[in-house]
Amino acid sequence: MSAFPSLKTRMAEISHLEMASAVLNWDQRTYMPARGAESRAKQLATLAKLAHELFVEQKTQDLLAAAEAEAAGVDADSDQRAYLRVARRHMDKSVKVPTSLVIENTEVCSLAREVWAKSRQDNDYASFAPWLDRILHLKRQYAHALGIPKDGCLYDVLLDDYEEGMTVRTLDPVFTDLKTHTIPLVAAINAHADRVSNELLTRDYDESAQAEFSLAVIQELGFDLSRGRLDKTVHPFCTNFATNDVRITTRYEKNWLPGALFGCLHEMGHAFYEMGINPDYESTPLANGVSLGVHESQSRLWENLVGRSHAFWQRYFPRLQQTFPKQLGHESVESFYRAINRVTPSFIRVEADEITYNLHIILRFEMEQDLLNEKLSAKDAPAAWNAKMQQSLGLVPPTDREGILQDVHWSGGGIGYFPTYTLGNVLASQLFAAARRAMPSLDSDIRTGIYSPLREWLRTNVHHHGKKYPPATLIQRATGKPLSTDDYIAYLKVKYTAIYRL
Ligand code: ZN
Repeated sequence: MSAFPSLKTRMAEISHLEMASAVLNWDQRTYMPARGAESRAKQLATLAKLAHELFVEQKTQDLLAAAEAEAAGVDADSDQRAYLRVARRHMDKSVKVPTSLVIENTEVCSLAREVWAKSRQDNDYASFAPWLDRILHLKRQYAHALGIPKDGCLYDVLLDDYEEGMTVRTLDPVFTDLKTHTIPLVAAINAHADRVSNELLTRDYDESAQAEFSLAVIQELGFDLSRGRLDKTVHPFCTNFATNDVRITTRYEKNWLPGALFGCLHEMGHAFYEMGINPDYESTPLANGVSLGVHESQSRLWENLVGRSHAFWQRYFPRLQQTFPKQLGHESVESFYRAINRVTPSFIRVEADEITYNLHIILRFEMEQDLLNEKLSAKDAPAAWNAKMQQSLGLVPPTDREGILQDVHWSGGGIGYFPTYTLGNVLASQLFAAARRAMPSLDSDIRTGIYSPLREWLRTNVHHHGKKYPPATLIQRATGKPLSTDDYIAYLKVKYTAIYRL
């Protein structure tokens, strides 16, 4: 009997357990009463344990090996071969890391997150430093367990968990390019900071009116409520339980209109990706977006390339004015467009504009490597952080709370994750430029509210493939070239030179 169908049945069961975990997770972050946390943690741990055991069990390993042997003569570009490639990649990672290391990592990270939360609250980095040391130590062990590639570095192994095949060698020139072009651009903008105000975004905006407007907009862009939901949360995210069940979340701030508005467009971009994956891939290792960077390119494309464009607001600003006549009745689309694109160096990554955002990421990318390679100690990290902030953004955080303690990632073991945010920005522009080449009417379509051609182009070229192709292959196929900063830098220069009249 052929092994592949049996492997598929088993992998589908594992996927069902994971999707059930995702439902519990979504519920925890949206509607669960606070005191349910303790029981929920146990339920999630049981499901994770069952899924893991079922996957690494000898029987699954045997089925995978047998299915690989059967597929030797099958077309290399087939779904079957892609399926086996992705399953093998997961299997190798799962069996190479000793269970004791997995358990220690989970325990240390869960404790470290609590220590971090308190350290941040008390602005007490010294309490967190030993935990960062422990996490770095575990990450080094993890990388060695997986095996450091001959020509690669420790950091590459961590990167690969979030962005398959990505390396420091590929990222270095990308980030150097971004620094070279954006630092002078930010300086030029700073010299004319008074040319753009965002005061109009900080007026009183009723939450339910914001919610109604945001939901109407994403529905017009193509978010299908028979296949998804929008709910409220504290830290917005997108999750999916099936191609036809994708959940997005947002939060509303009374005195900051862009928060929910662009947050919804961002999560909608993630949702389109999951909704657009080939339905045949459901419950297989090929379901889900291919990498965090490519995923982020989809959210950033809708949030920034579409959502913060002049064309988009030519259509939607009159309606926004009707929703908020008192706040925006006397404003022009021009002043609104400028306000939502204001650039200003700041301490906090999540509040950063389109340009300075990447400088926050590059700082973390450089520090993570130094910390991992023991060129920098956890104890000295705040000083290094502040020096880099001064160098790239021209400001130093008043306390560690606004500096090195601001992000949750390191405390949860997320080292190697940050670069995917900037990759998302770069790839969003690269994909948008390719879409524009294929559809010369793209900008006028956005102005007149015709979004299906862009959605379809993204679905056909990116979403549909799920994890079938590694990220670099997918990008090459979709845009005709490898990862490149050209389109992104050109986009930033044209857009911001005009906004700031440089
Ligand atoms: Zn995102």
